[in-house]
Amino acid sequence: MSFPPLRDGLQGLQPYGAPQLDVPVQLNVNENPYGPSPACVADIATAVAQAASGLNRYPDREFVALRAALADYLSHDTPHPITPDQVWAANGSNEVMLQLLQAFGGPGRTALSFAPTYSMYPEYARDTLTTWEQGRREDDFGLDLDAARALVEARRPSVVLLPSPNNPTGTALPPEAVTLLCEATAAHDGLVVVDEAYGEFRRDGTPSALELLPRHRNLVVTRTMSKAFALAGGRLGYLAADPAICDAIRVVRLPYHLSAVTQAVALAALRHAPELLGKVDQLRAERDATVGWLRGRGLQVADSDANFVLFGTFPDRHAVWQGLLDRGVLIREVGPDGWLRVSVGTPEEMSSFRDALTHVLGTKVTEESTS
Ligand SMILES: *Cc1c(COP(=O)(O)O)cnc(C)c1O
Repeated sequence: MSFPPLRDGLQGLQPYGAPQLDVPVQLNVNENPYGPSPACVADIATAVAQAASGLNRYPDREFVALRAALADYLSHDTPHPITPDQVWAANGSNEVMLQLLQAFGGPGRTALSFAPTYSMYPEYARDTLTTWEQGRREDDFGLDLDAARALVEARRPSVVLLPSPNNPTGTALPPEAVTLLCEATAAHDGLVVVDEAYGEFRRDGTPSALELLPRHRNLVVTRTMSKAFALAGGRLGYLAADPAICDAIRVVRLPYHLSAVTQAVALAALRHAPELLGKVDQLRAERDATVGWLRGRGLQVADSDANFVLFGTFPDRHAVWQGLLDRGVLIREVGPDGWLRVSVGTPEEMSSFRDALTHVLGTKVTEESTS
């Protein structure tokens, strides 16, 4: 007998999550390093105070105002306007994707992604008793489209999870890849979920999968306010898809899953979108500079369309991670063997990262002794 009586498949497992350590430079969970302005904070506080006076009542179950505001925000990223009935939201896009698997996965069904990728995906599958299937990415972390199509045809997944840009590699998918996988998956009535958690950071010339929504009714595009939008603490993720998909999710969502406080905070933050997103261009420039600097050190670096950079490779990556932490810089030990991921922070934080890495790799000593 064991206690607590966890079901098969959950025993001995550790909860997902990066270490939350109180160190000066935190570059480990891809947050936006810039907090809201005092004006934005005041507006959020007023909105929460208004919501507070009605907290004896359950919130709007259909969060109509928030869906309209999110639809409006998304419509800037595609020539085809997004309507409120195409939008669904939950407490982070992780919850949105879990709901997708609750509704469209389940016993006897399969979910598929391509590794290396976001390590929460197999957990949604596990938690919904969906069979988990994983293809491989190429050495440059892109997809071999013929192989991807063949895997979809062989496994007939009910849900294909495709992050673009991918975490932890930063790789964006070309629209042809999304189209090809939507078509291959539609052939057996499956869905394709393009997880655009980092969509706002994509490089110029990389379109959003939102543009493809009118062409593929089995396409779902998820977004979050946690990354570019600088609202990780607000817990708000959302999707755009065919209204029938949003309707179907309502069957599995918990009653009033989106609190009145969450709705008020997200609505107020959306009113400040230009400010909250105002640092995205600076973060993209800092990312490109970080890629260049790491390559200049002779390291391998994955091309990135996100607000983080995957670099390596190290025979003992844990030692490098620990060495940085010893100098007050927390990054993430994640991805294929030997690689590490650093989130893009402020110029000061990136300078601390470069100094710490230089020390850890010993190149500073070499440079000093040769100059
Ligand atoms: C951070 C992240 C999310 C978003 O998480 P939230 O639950 O919205 O905070 C989704 N997908 C990927 C790949 C991520 O890295």
